[in-house]
Amino acid sequence: MTTATNTSKGGWGNLALWKKIFIGMIAGIIVGIVMGPDAELLKPIGTLFINAIKMLIVPLVFCSLIVGVTSMQDTRKMGRIGMKSIVIYLATTAVAISIGLGLGTVLMPGAGLDMSVSAESAAAAKEAPGLVSTLLALIPKNPIEALAGGKILQIIVFALGLGIALNMIGEKAEPAVKLFNSFAEAMYKLTELVMKFAPYGIFALMAWVAGKYGLDVLLPLIKVIAAVYIGCILHVLVVYSGLISTVARLRPVQYLKGIVNAQMMAFTSTSSSGTLPVSMRCAQENLGVSKGISSFVLPLGATINMDGTALYQGVAALFVAQAFGIDLSMADYLTIIATSTLASVGTAGVPGAGLIMLSLVLTTVGLPMEGLAIVAGIDRILDMARTCVNVSGDLMVSVLVGKSENELDESIYNAAEPVSEVQASRESANA
Ligand code: ASP
Repeated sequence: MTTATNTSKGGWGNLALWKKIFIGMIAGIIVGIVMGPDAELLKPIGTLFINAIKMLIVPLVFCSLIVGVTSMQDTRKMGRIGMKSIVIYLATTAVAISIGLGLGTVLMPGAGLDMSVSAESAAAAKEAPGLVSTLLALIPKNPIEALAGGKILQIIVFALGLGIALNMIGEKAEPAVKLFNSFAEAMYKLTELVMKFAPYGIFALMAWVAGKYGLDVLLPLIKVIAAVYIGCILHVLVVYSGLISTVARLRPVQYLKGIVNAQMMAFTSTSSSGTLPVSMRCAQENLGVSKGISSFVLPLGATINMDGTALYQGVAALFVAQAFGIDLSMADYLTIIATSTLASVGTAGVPGAGLIMLSLVLTTVGLPMEGLAIVAGIDRILDMARTCVNVSGDLMVSVLVGKSENELDESIYNAAEPVSEVQASRESANA
Protein backbone atom coordinates (compact mmCIF):
# COMPACT_ATOMS: atom_id res chain seq x y z
CA MET A 1 0.00 0.00 0.00
CA THR A 2 2.99 2.27 0.44
CA THR A 3 3.21 2.80 -3.29
CA ALA A 4 -0.22 4.34 -3.25
CA THR A 5 1.04 7.77 -4.15
CA ASN A 6 3.49 6.55 -6.72
CA THR A 7 2.26 8.98 -9.30
CA SER A 8 4.91 11.57 -8.61
CA LYS A 9 6.28 11.37 -12.15
CA GLY A 10 3.32 13.44 -13.32
CA GLY A 11 1.92 13.45 -16.82
CA TRP A 12 -1.42 12.33 -18.22
CA GLY A 13 -0.45 8.65 -18.36
CA ASN A 14 0.30 8.53 -14.65
CA LEU A 15 -2.86 10.23 -13.46
CA ALA A 16 -5.39 8.11 -11.59
CA LEU A 17 -8.37 7.16 -13.72
CA TRP A 18 -10.90 9.16 -11.74
CA LYS A 19 -8.80 12.30 -12.13
CA LYS A 20 -8.62 11.77 -15.87
CA ILE A 21 -12.38 11.26 -16.02
CA PHE A 22 -12.92 14.39 -13.96
CA ILE A 23 -10.67 16.44 -16.23
CA GLY A 24 -12.51 14.98 -19.24
CA MET A 25 -15.81 16.03 -17.75
CA ILE A 26 -14.79 19.62 -17.03
CA ALA A 27 -13.04 19.98 -20.40
CA GLY A 28 -16.20 18.61 -22.03
CA ILE A 29 -18.40 21.21 -20.35
CA ILE A 30 -16.09 24.03 -21.45
CA VAL A 31 -15.85 22.77 -25.02
CA GLY A 32 -19.64 22.26 -25.12
CA ILE A 33 -20.34 25.80 -23.97
CA VAL A 34 -17.89 27.21 -26.50
CA MET A 35 -19.10 25.08 -29.41
CA GLY A 36 -22.82 25.27 -28.65
CA PRO A 37 -25.08 22.85 -30.55
CA ASP A 38 -22.14 22.02 -32.87
CA ALA A 39 -20.72 19.96 -30.03
CA GLU A 40 -23.09 17.24 -31.21
CA LEU A 41 -20.27 16.41 -33.63
CA LEU A 42 -18.38 14.90 -30.70
CA LYS A 43 -21.26 12.73 -29.57
CA PRO A 44 -20.24 9.60 -31.55
CA ILE A 45 -17.06 9.35 -29.47
CA GLY A 46 -19.27 9.22 -26.38
CA THR A 47 -21.65 6.75 -27.99
CA LEU A 48 -18.70 4.51 -28.85
CA PHE A 49 -17.71 4.43 -25.21
CA ILE A 50 -21.25 3.82 -23.96
CA ASN A 51 -21.68 0.98 -26.45
CA ALA A 52 -18.41 -0.57 -25.31
CA ILE A 53 -19.60 -0.49 -21.71
CA LYS A 54 -22.99 -1.89 -22.65
CA MET A 55 -21.27 -4.73 -24.44
CA LEU A 56 -19.93 -5.88 -21.06
CA ILE A 57 -23.14 -5.87 -19.05
CA VAL A 58 -24.87 -9.13 -19.95
CA PRO A 59 -21.86 -11.48 -19.92
CA LEU A 60 -20.44 -9.76 -16.86
CA VAL A 61 -23.63 -9.93 -14.80
CA PHE A 62 -24.40 -13.47 -15.89
CA CYS A 63 -20.97 -14.97 -15.24
CA SER A 64 -20.17 -13.10 -12.07
CA LEU A 65 -23.54 -13.92 -10.57
CA ILE A 66 -23.00 -17.62 -11.21
CA VAL A 67 -19.53 -17.32 -9.73
CA GLY A 68 -21.07 -15.54 -6.74
CA VAL A 69 -23.70 -18.20 -6.15
CA THR A 70 -21.38 -21.15 -6.64
CA SER A 71 -18.86 -19.62 -4.26
CA MET A 72 -21.57 -19.25 -1.63
CA GLN A 73 -23.05 -22.76 -1.56
CA ASP A 74 -25.41 -21.91 1.31
CA THR A 75 -28.84 -21.21 -0.20
CA ARG A 76 -30.26 -19.84 3.05
CA LYS A 77 -27.53 -17.24 3.15
CA MET A 78 -28.43 -16.17 -0.36
CA GLY A 79 -32.06 -15.71 0.54
CA ARG A 80 -31.03 -13.64 3.52
CA ILE A 81 -28.79 -11.41 1.42
CA GLY A 82 -31.58 -10.94 -1.12
CA MET A 83 -34.09 -9.96 1.56
CA LYS A 84 -31.71 -7.58 3.28
CA SER A 85 -30.87 -5.85 0.02
CA ILE A 86 -34.48 -5.46 -1.05
CA VAL A 87 -35.57 -4.08 2.33
CA ILE A 88 -32.77 -1.49 2.39
CA TYR A 89 -33.39 -0.61 -1.24
CA LEU A 90 -37.08 0.08 -0.67
CA ALA A 91 -36.57 1.88 2.65
CA THR A 92 -33.97 4.28 1.26
CA THR A 93 -36.16 4.91 -1.78
CA ALA A 94 -39.03 5.98 0.45
CA VAL A 95 -36.67 8.30 2.34
CA ALA A 96 -35.40 9.74 -0.94
CA ILE A 97 -38.82 10.60 -2.21
CA SER A 98 -39.68 12.22 1.11
CA ILE A 99 -36.58 14.40 0.77
CA GLY A 100 -37.78 15.30 -2.73
CA LEU A 101 -41.23 16.23 -1.44
CA GLY A 102 -39.66 18.23 1.38
CA LEU A 103 -37.45 20.21 -0.97
CA GLY A 104 -40.32 20.70 -3.38
CA THR A 105 -42.33 22.21 -0.53
CA VAL A 106 -39.57 24.43 0.77
CA LEU A 107 -38.05 25.63 -2.51
CA MET A 108 -41.36 25.86 -4.42
CA PRO A 109 -39.75 25.26 -7.83
CA GLY A 110 -43.03 25.68 -9.73
CA ALA A 111 -44.31 28.82 -8.05
CA GLY A 112 -44.89 31.69 -10.44
CA LEU A 113 -44.21 29.69 -13.59
CA ASP A 114 -46.25 30.25 -16.74
CA MET A 115 -47.69 26.93 -17.76
CA SER A 116 -48.83 27.81 -21.25
CA VAL A 117 -46.02 25.76 -22.80
CA SER A 118 -47.02 23.22 -25.43
CA ALA A 119 -47.68 19.72 -24.26
CA GLU A 120 -45.97 18.01 -27.19
CA SER A 121 -43.60 15.76 -25.37
CA ALA A 122 -46.24 14.72 -22.87
CA ALA A 123 -47.29 12.35 -25.59
CA ALA A 124 -43.96 10.62 -25.10
CA ALA A 125 -45.15 9.37 -21.75
CA LYS A 126 -45.60 5.65 -21.69
CA GLU A 127 -47.15 3.33 -19.16
CA ALA A 128 -44.80 2.12 -16.49
CA PRO A 129 -45.18 -1.61 -15.90
CA GLY A 130 -47.48 -2.62 -13.02
CA LEU A 131 -46.24 -4.58 -10.03
CA VAL A 132 -47.95 -7.86 -10.92
CA SER A 133 -46.69 -7.91 -14.48
CA THR A 134 -43.23 -7.03 -13.21
CA LEU A 135 -43.31 -9.99 -10.84
CA LEU A 136 -44.66 -12.36 -13.48
CA ALA A 137 -42.03 -11.26 -15.93
CA LEU A 138 -39.25 -12.24 -13.56
CA ILE A 139 -39.06 -15.78 -14.88
CA PRO A 140 -37.63 -15.88 -18.37
CA LYS A 141 -39.55 -18.21 -20.65
CA ASN A 142 -36.45 -18.38 -22.74
CA PRO A 143 -33.17 -17.56 -20.99
CA ILE A 144 -31.34 -17.03 -24.25
CA GLU A 145 -33.91 -14.41 -25.19
CA ALA A 146 -33.44 -12.78 -21.77
CA LEU A 147 -29.69 -12.68 -22.33
CA ALA A 148 -30.07 -11.39 -25.86
CA GLY A 149 -32.57 -8.75 -24.75
CA GLY A 150 -30.43 -7.67 -21.79
CA LYS A 151 -33.29 -8.21 -19.32
CA ILE A 152 -31.33 -7.90 -16.12
CA LEU A 153 -33.94 -9.16 -13.63
CA GLN A 154 -34.63 -12.24 -15.76
CA ILE A 155 -30.92 -12.85 -16.14
CA ILE A 156 -30.53 -12.64 -12.36
CA VAL A 157 -33.28 -15.21 -11.84
CA PHE A 158 -31.82 -17.62 -14.39
CA ALA A 159 -28.25 -17.21 -13.14
CA LEU A 160 -29.42 -17.78 -9.55
CA GLY A 161 -31.23 -20.94 -10.59
CA LEU A 162 -28.30 -22.22 -12.58
CA GLY A 163 -25.88 -21.40 -9.77
CA ILE A 164 -27.99 -23.22 -7.20
CA ALA A 165 -28.29 -26.24 -9.53
CA LEU A 166 -24.54 -26.27 -10.01
CA ASN A 167 -24.08 -26.26 -6.24
CA MET A 168 -26.43 -29.23 -5.96
CA ILE A 169 -24.63 -31.47 -8.43
CA GLY A 170 -21.33 -31.29 -6.56
CA GLU A 171 -18.28 -32.62 -8.42
CA LYS A 172 -20.05 -32.78 -11.76
CA ALA A 173 -20.31 -28.98 -11.67
CA GLU A 174 -16.57 -28.39 -11.57
CA PRO A 175 -15.88 -27.90 -15.29
CA ALA A 176 -18.80 -25.50 -15.67
CA VAL A 177 -17.86 -23.53 -12.55
CA LYS A 178 -14.29 -23.24 -13.79
CA LEU A 179 -15.48 -22.03 -17.15
CA PHE A 180 -17.71 -19.34 -15.62
CA ASN A 181 -14.90 -18.34 -13.27
CA SER A 182 -12.39 -17.78 -16.00
CA PHE A 183 -14.96 -16.07 -18.20
CA ALA A 184 -15.87 -13.73 -15.35
CA GLU A 185 -12.20 -12.88 -14.79
CA ALA A 186 -11.85 -12.08 -18.47
CA MET A 187 -14.87 -9.81 -18.28
CA TYR A 188 -13.37 -7.93 -15.31
CA LYS A 189 -10.22 -7.43 -17.36
CA LEU A 190 -12.18 -6.27 -20.37
CA THR A 191 -14.00 -3.76 -18.16
CA GLU A 192 -10.66 -2.40 -17.04
CA LEU A 193 -9.55 -2.02 -20.65
CA VAL A 194 -12.76 -0.29 -21.74
CA MET A 195 -12.50 2.08 -18.78
CA LYS A 196 -9.19 3.39 -20.09
CA PHE A 197 -11.26 5.05 -22.77
CA ALA A 198 -13.65 6.58 -20.23
CA PRO A 199 -12.07 10.06 -19.97
CA TYR A 200 -12.45 10.60 -23.72
CA GLY A 201 -15.95 9.18 -23.97
CA ILE A 202 -17.08 11.22 -21.01
CA PHE A 203 -15.45 14.34 -22.43
CA ALA A 204 -17.48 13.93 -25.62
CA LEU A 205 -20.75 13.24 -23.80
CA MET A 206 -20.36 16.26 -21.54
CA ALA A 207 -19.52 18.49 -24.48
CA TRP A 208 -22.69 17.32 -26.21
CA VAL A 209 -24.91 17.89 -23.16
CA ALA A 210 -23.42 21.30 -22.37
CA GLY A 211 -23.70 22.33 -26.02
CA LYS A 212 -27.29 21.21 -26.28
CA TYR A 213 -28.60 22.87 -23.13
CA GLY A 214 -27.28 26.39 -23.17
CA LEU A 215 -28.18 28.74 -20.35
CA ASP A 216 -31.33 29.83 -22.24
CA VAL A 217 -32.91 26.44 -21.76
CA LEU A 218 -31.76 26.05 -18.20
CA LEU A 219 -32.50 29.38 -16.54
CA PRO A 220 -36.32 29.24 -16.33
CA LEU A 221 -36.12 25.82 -14.74
CA ILE A 222 -33.14 26.55 -12.57
CA LYS A 223 -35.15 26.02 -9.36
CA VAL A 224 -36.20 22.50 -10.33
CA ILE A 225 -32.64 21.68 -11.25
CA ALA A 226 -31.37 23.18 -8.00
CA ALA A 227 -33.94 21.30 -5.91
CA VAL A 228 -33.10 17.97 -7.55
CA TYR A 229 -29.34 18.50 -7.29
CA ILE A 230 -29.49 19.69 -3.66
CA GLY A 231 -31.67 16.72 -2.78
CA CYS A 232 -29.33 14.29 -4.50
CA ILE A 233 -26.28 15.69 -2.75
CA LEU A 234 -28.06 15.59 0.62
CA HIS A 235 -29.18 12.02 0.09
CA VAL A 236 -25.67 10.78 -0.64
CA LEU A 237 -23.92 12.86 1.99
CA VAL A 238 -26.44 12.52 4.79
CA VAL A 239 -28.46 9.33 4.27
CA TYR A 240 -25.86 7.08 2.61
CA SER A 241 -22.88 8.33 4.55
CA GLY A 242 -24.99 8.21 7.71
CA LEU A 243 -25.93 4.58 7.11
CA ILE A 244 -22.34 3.67 6.31
CA SER A 245 -21.12 5.16 9.56
CA THR A 246 -23.96 4.15 11.89
CA VAL A 247 -25.01 0.77 10.52
CA ALA A 248 -21.80 -0.54 8.94
CA ARG A 249 -19.57 1.39 11.35
CA LEU A 250 -17.17 2.31 8.56
CA ARG A 251 -15.69 5.64 7.53
CA PRO A 252 -17.99 7.32 5.00
CA VAL A 253 -15.05 9.18 3.42
CA GLN A 254 -13.67 5.90 2.13
CA TYR A 255 -17.04 5.02 0.65
CA LEU A 256 -17.28 8.39 -1.08
CA LYS A 257 -13.74 8.09 -2.42
CA GLY A 258 -14.26 4.55 -3.60
CA ILE A 259 -17.36 5.24 -5.66
CA VAL A 260 -16.14 8.27 -7.62
CA ASN A 261 -15.53 6.36 -10.86
CA ALA A 262 -18.98 4.83 -10.81
CA GLN A 263 -20.56 8.18 -10.00
CA MET A 264 -18.88 9.89 -12.90
CA MET A 265 -19.84 7.07 -15.22
CA ALA A 266 -23.44 7.28 -14.01
CA PHE A 267 -23.49 11.06 -14.29
CA THR A 268 -22.43 11.04 -17.90
CA SER A 269 -24.11 7.86 -19.15
CA THR A 270 -27.42 8.36 -17.27
CA SER A 271 -27.81 4.61 -17.04
CA SER A 272 -27.35 2.61 -13.86
CA SER A 273 -27.42 -0.64 -15.82
CA GLY A 274 -24.79 0.80 -18.11
CA THR A 275 -22.66 1.70 -15.11
CA LEU A 276 -22.80 -1.84 -13.68
CA PRO A 277 -19.36 -2.96 -14.87
CA VAL A 278 -17.80 0.11 -13.27
CA SER A 279 -19.82 -0.24 -10.04
CA MET A 280 -18.73 -3.85 -9.72
CA ARG A 281 -15.10 -2.82 -9.98
CA CYS A 282 -15.57 -0.05 -7.44
CA ALA A 283 -17.30 -2.40 -4.99
CA GLN A 284 -14.70 -5.12 -5.24
CA GLU A 285 -11.49 -3.20 -5.68
CA ASN A 286 -12.11 0.01 -3.76
CA LEU A 287 -14.67 -0.92 -1.14
CA GLY A 288 -13.51 -4.49 -0.49
CA VAL A 289 -16.96 -6.05 -0.98
CA SER A 290 -16.67 -9.73 -1.92
CA LYS A 291 -17.40 -10.83 -5.47
CA GLY A 292 -20.25 -12.98 -4.21
CA ILE A 293 -22.08 -10.06 -2.62
CA SER A 294 -21.33 -7.40 -5.19
CA SER A 295 -22.24 -9.55 -8.17
CA PHE A 296 -25.63 -10.21 -6.60
CA VAL A 297 -26.50 -6.95 -4.85
CA LEU A 298 -25.38 -4.55 -7.60
CA PRO A 299 -27.23 -5.96 -10.64
CA LEU A 300 -30.31 -6.26 -8.46
CA GLY A 301 -29.90 -2.66 -7.35
CA ALA A 302 -29.35 -1.41 -10.89
CA THR A 303 -32.88 -2.49 -11.72
CA ILE A 304 -34.86 -2.16 -8.53
CA ASN A 305 -33.14 0.62 -6.61
CA MET A 306 -33.68 4.15 -7.79
CA ASP A 307 -33.42 6.62 -4.98
CA GLY A 308 -32.34 9.49 -7.19
CA THR A 309 -35.25 8.84 -9.52
CA ALA A 310 -37.70 8.72 -6.62
CA LEU A 311 -36.33 11.95 -5.19
CA TYR A 312 -36.68 13.62 -8.55
CA GLN A 313 -40.28 12.47 -8.75
CA GLY A 314 -41.07 14.10 -5.44
CA VAL A 315 -39.66 17.40 -6.65
CA ALA A 316 -41.20 17.12 -10.11
CA ALA A 317 -44.68 16.23 -8.83
CA LEU A 318 -44.70 19.26 -6.55
CA PHE A 319 -43.30 21.41 -9.32
CA VAL A 320 -46.19 20.45 -11.58
CA ALA A 321 -48.76 20.89 -8.81
CA GLN A 322 -47.41 24.36 -7.94
CA ALA A 323 -47.10 25.48 -11.54
CA PHE A 324 -50.72 24.52 -12.22
CA GLY A 325 -51.92 25.86 -8.88
CA ILE A 326 -53.17 22.47 -7.65
CA ASP A 327 -53.18 21.72 -3.91
CA LEU A 328 -52.07 18.28 -2.85
CA SER A 329 -53.50 16.58 0.22
CA MET A 330 -51.61 14.45 2.72
CA ALA A 331 -53.13 11.39 1.02
CA ASP A 332 -51.67 12.57 -2.30
CA TYR A 333 -48.24 12.83 -0.71
CA LEU A 334 -48.52 9.29 0.62
CA THR A 335 -49.73 8.07 -2.77
CA ILE A 336 -46.72 9.68 -4.42
CA ILE A 337 -44.39 7.97 -1.95
CA ALA A 338 -46.01 4.55 -2.44
CA THR A 339 -46.36 4.78 -6.22
CA SER A 340 -42.87 5.85 -6.98
CA THR A 341 -41.28 3.45 -4.50
CA LEU A 342 -43.11 0.54 -6.14
CA ALA A 343 -42.69 1.85 -9.68
CA SER A 344 -38.95 2.06 -9.13
CA VAL A 345 -38.87 -1.73 -8.78
CA GLY A 346 -40.16 -2.33 -12.26
CA THR A 347 -38.24 0.29 -14.18
CA ALA A 348 -34.94 -0.49 -15.85
CA GLY A 349 -31.84 1.57 -15.15
CA VAL A 350 -31.73 3.17 -18.56
CA PRO A 351 -31.65 6.81 -19.65
CA GLY A 352 -34.94 8.60 -19.23
CA ALA A 353 -36.72 5.76 -17.41
CA GLY A 354 -37.55 8.14 -14.57
CA LEU A 355 -39.57 10.35 -16.88
CA ILE A 356 -41.77 7.40 -17.79
CA MET A 357 -42.25 6.68 -14.12
CA LEU A 358 -43.12 10.30 -13.53
CA SER A 359 -46.05 9.99 -15.91
CA LEU A 360 -47.32 7.17 -13.72
CA VAL A 361 -46.98 9.22 -10.55
CA LEU A 362 -48.67 12.27 -12.09
CA THR A 363 -51.62 10.20 -13.31
CA THR A 364 -52.06 8.45 -9.99
CA VAL A 365 -52.48 11.71 -8.11
CA GLY A 366 -54.38 13.35 -10.95
CA LEU A 367 -51.82 15.96 -11.92
CA PRO A 368 -51.84 17.28 -15.51
CA MET A 369 -49.58 15.47 -17.96
CA GLU A 370 -48.67 18.79 -19.57
CA GLY A 371 -46.33 19.29 -16.66
CA LEU A 372 -44.33 16.38 -17.95
CA ALA A 373 -43.59 18.22 -21.16
CA ILE A 374 -41.80 20.95 -19.30
CA VAL A 375 -39.58 18.76 -17.18
CA ALA A 376 -39.00 16.52 -20.20
CA GLY A 377 -37.13 19.40 -21.81
CA ILE A 378 -34.39 19.24 -19.22
CA ASP A 379 -34.64 15.55 -18.45
CA ARG A 380 -31.05 14.76 -19.32
CA ILE A 381 -29.71 17.29 -16.82
CA LEU A 382 -31.90 15.84 -14.07
CA ASP A 383 -31.20 12.27 -15.15
CA MET A 384 -27.47 12.82 -14.66
CA ALA A 385 -27.93 13.64 -10.98
CA ARG A 386 -30.54 11.00 -10.24
CA THR A 387 -28.59 8.19 -11.93
CA CYS A 388 -25.54 9.21 -9.92
CA VAL A 389 -27.57 8.75 -6.72
CA ASN A 390 -29.10 5.49 -7.95
CA VAL A 391 -25.65 4.03 -8.44
CA SER A 392 -24.29 5.45 -5.17
CA GLY A 393 -27.24 3.79 -3.43
CA ASP A 394 -26.52 0.39 -4.97
CA LEU A 395 -22.92 0.65 -3.81
CA MET A 396 -23.94 1.76 -0.32
CA VAL A 397 -26.17 -1.29 0.02
CA SER A 398 -23.39 -3.58 -1.18
CA VAL A 399 -21.20 -2.20 1.62
CA LEU A 400 -23.92 -2.60 4.25
CA VAL A 401 -24.78 -6.13 3.19
CA GLY A 402 -21.12 -7.07 2.71
CA LYS A 403 -20.26 -5.83 6.18
CA SER A 404 -23.19 -7.58 7.84
CA GLU A 405 -22.31 -10.87 6.13
CA ASN A 406 -18.62 -10.59 7.00
CA GLU A 407 -17.83 -10.33 3.33
CA LEU A 408 -16.13 -6.97 3.31
CA ASP A 409 -12.38 -6.71 3.40
CA GLU A 410 -11.76 -3.73 5.65
CA SER A 411 -8.09 -3.49 4.72
CA ILE A 412 -9.17 -2.74 1.14
CA TYR A 413 -11.98 -0.45 2.30
CA ASN A 414 -9.67 1.56 4.52
CA ALA A 415 -6.73 1.69 2.10
CA ALA A 416 -5.56 5.27 1.56
CA GLU A 417 -6.01 4.97 -2.20
CA PRO A 418 -8.41 2.67 -4.02
CA VAL A 419 -6.63 -0.57 -4.91
CA SER A 420 -7.43 -0.19 -8.60
CA GLU A 421 -5.61 3.14 -8.62
CA VAL A 422 -2.64 1.62 -6.83
CA GLN A 423 -2.50 -1.08 -9.47
CA ALA A 424 -2.90 1.44 -12.25
CA SER A 425 -0.08 3.58 -10.93
CA ARG A 426 2.10 0.50 -10.51
CA GLU A 427 1.31 -0.62 -14.01
CA SER A 428 2.14 2.76 -15.49
CA ALA A 429 5.28 3.00 -13.36
CA ASN A 430 6.39 -0.37 -14.72
CA ALA A 431 5.49 0.49 -18.30
N1 ASP B 1 -31.44 6.91 -15.78
C1 ASP B 1 -31.78 6.38 -14.49
C2 ASP B 1 -30.97 5.16 -14.20
O1 ASP B 1 -30.48 4.51 -15.08
C3 ASP B 1 -33.22 6.08 -14.38
C4 ASP B 1 -33.99 7.35 -14.51
O2 ASP B 1 -34.27 7.77 -15.63
O3 ASP B 1 -34.28 7.97 -13.49
O4 ASP B 1 -30.79 4.80 -13.07
